[in-house]
Amino acid sequence: MSANDALHIAVLAGDGIGPEVMAPALDVLRRVEATTKLRFRFTDAPAGATHYQQTGRSMPESAIKLCDEADAILLGACGLPHIRYPDNTEIAPQIELRMIFDLYAGVRPARLIPGVPSPIVGAAQHGIDLVLIRESTEGLFASMGKGIVTADEARETMVITRKTSQRLFEFSFRIAERRKARGRKGQLACVDKANVFKAFAYFRGLFDEAAARHPDIEASRIYVDACSAMLVKRPWDFDVLVTENMFGDILSDLTAGLIGGLGMAPSADIGDRHAVFQPCHGTAPDIMGQGKANPTAMILSVALMLDWLADKHLLPEAAAAAERIESAVDKAYADGIKPMEFGGRDGTAEITRAVIAGL
Ligand code: ATP
Repeated sequence: MSANDALHIAVLAGDGIGPEVMAPALDVLRRVEATTKLRFRFTDAPAGATHYQQTGRSMPESAIKLCDEADAILLGACGLPHIRYPDNTEIAPQIELRMIFDLYAGVRPARLIPGVPSPIVGAAQHGIDLVLIRESTEGLFASMGKGIVTADEARETMVITRKTSQRLFEFSFRIAERRKARGRKGQLACVDKANVFKAFAYFRGLFDEAAARHPDIEASRIYVDACSAMLVKRPWDFDVLVTENMFGDILSDLTAGLIGGLGMAPSADIGDRHAVFQPCHGTAPDIMGQGKANPTAMILSVALMLDWLADKHLLPEAAAAAERIESAVDKAYADGIKPMEFGGRDGTAEITRAVIAGL
C-alpha cells in the first residue's frame, strides 16, 4: 500500500454522544486529506442499542463484514441504559467486536495535555505520559454470559491462556520499544495478583519469558493493589503497563481520571489483523444532544488509528499525520480551550474548531 491508495475506514458511530464525537473526528481526517497525500474512504454502518431496538440485533451481519474488510474500524460509543437484552445486560457491540476479531490488546494511553487540570498533585509539573495495555478477550471477561448463579452462590471463572498472553506481552514490549525509540523510558510493568492466584502466577511466568526476549526494555512486576496506589501518587513513574482484562477495565478508567476525564482518553483494541479505535467513554446519555460532548478522546483515537496504519502498512505520512493531530490538540488546550466536561465553556463545536485550526 502507498500513501496514494485510499485507506478504507469502517465508521460505527453508535448511540448517545457517539455520533456527536464521530463527526468531529471525521472532519479532522478530511483536514488531514486536504493537507497530505493520504486518502480515506469512509463507510458507515449501524451498531448499538438503537439498532437493537429497531431490529433485535446489536449490529447487522453487513457491519461485521464491513469491519472485516476495512483497513481500520472507528467506533463512537454504543449502548443505552434503558435498552437492554432480556437478561438485563446492555447492548455492547464494541465487546462483541473484540471477540469476533480476536482484538486481544486494549491500548489505553493516558497523556496529560498541558493546560488540562489533573486531580493529582504535582501532575502539571511532572507530566503524565503512560500507556495501559489491557488484555481484552479473556481473563475474567471470558466468563461473560457463562456465569453460574444458584440461590446460594454465584461463580465466574477467569481464563488466562498461553497463546493470548504471549501475543499480548510481545505486543506490549513492542509498544515499549517504539516509545523508547521516541524518547520515552522504555519500561514495561506487568500488573497482576500473582501472590494470591495461580492464574496470575502463570500470567507472570509468561511475562518473565517474554521479558527475557526483550533485554532492551526494563521489565518489572507489580501487584494490582500497590499499582493502584502508585498510579494516584506518582503516575509519572510509569511508562507502559500490561494487565488482565478485568484489572485493565478498572485501571483504565482510573488512568483516564488522572488526565482530566473520560473525554480526554483515547483507546484502541488491536488484534493481529484488525483494530477498533474508540474513545474510552460510553454514550453519556446525560449530555447527549446538547452539544456538550468533548470530542478530544475520539480525535486522539483517530491519531492512534493513523499510527497503527503507519506501522502496519509502512506509511510514514500516516505517522506524521498522527503526530500533527496530537500537536493540534495540545495547541488547542494551550490556547485556552476549556471543555464543559471540566467546568469550562467550550462544547463540541468550539473544541473541534480549535483542533482543526491547529491542523
Ligand atoms: P459505559 O458503561 O458505556 O462505559 P458509563 O455510563 O460508565 O458508560 P459514560 O457514558 O462514559 O459512562 O459517562 C460517564 C460520565 O462521564 C457521564 O457523566 C458523562 O456525561 C461523562 N462523559 C463521558 N464522556 C464524555 C465526553 N466525551 N464529554 C463530556 N462528558 C463525558
